[in-house]
Amino acid sequence: MTAPIGVLALQGDFREHRQTLAKIGVDSIEVRTLADLTASSGLIIPGGESTVMQKLALAYDLFQPIKDALKAGLPAFGTCAGLIMLADEILDGIAGQSGFGGLDVSVRRNAFGNQLDSFEVDLEFKGVVGSPVHAAFIRAPIVERVGPEVEVLSTLGDGRIVGVRQKNLMGISFHPEVTDETRIHELFVSMVGA
Ligand code: GLN
Repeated sequence: MTAPIGVLALQGDFREHRQTLAKIGVDSIEVRTLADLTASSGLIIPGGESTVMQKLALAYDLFQPIKDALKAGLPAFGTCAGLIMLADEILDGIAGQSGFGGLDVSVRRNAFGNQLDSFEVDLEFKGVVGSPVHAAFIRAPIVERVGPEVEVLSTLGDGRIVGVRQKNLMGISFHPEVTDETRIHELFVSMVGA
């Protein structure tokens, strides 16, 4: 039996991620302590609010341990706020905002502005075969810069980047966990198993 996948459960839609993992038959645990983190074979960082997630990670003494674990190679998958938490540079953050980092990208928060807070669209996604991925964007960030080691996995029709991977880290702007999409979680599970 392999170790379960951890879902960071400080804030945000961690339950939906656990439900998606359950649908594909993968065990998961909620991560709120160092012991939970250590017991996890990979880490999902959910959507929610990155500024609050940073504060809670610090308050729960998880901020530095997560940062270290990602650097040491723990596979991680961030959606929306989770992508922001994985980015090395956050644009339009609040004063003092920083994430765990590890992805050599610059991510702009709330990049779609107020007129277009939320929308859904079908996307091609590298590594996902078959029909396009149905993607829900909710106050979503956009990847504005990618470093040389970063692989772009998905873009909007106008070329803006919404999915990236660098070694053990994958981040996407949207929320497959709120639609019926399970294939990106399957991709992450294969990263964890590799
Ligand atoms: N706008 C949020 C943030 O800055 C992210 C929104 C989301 O995760 N759906 O963290």
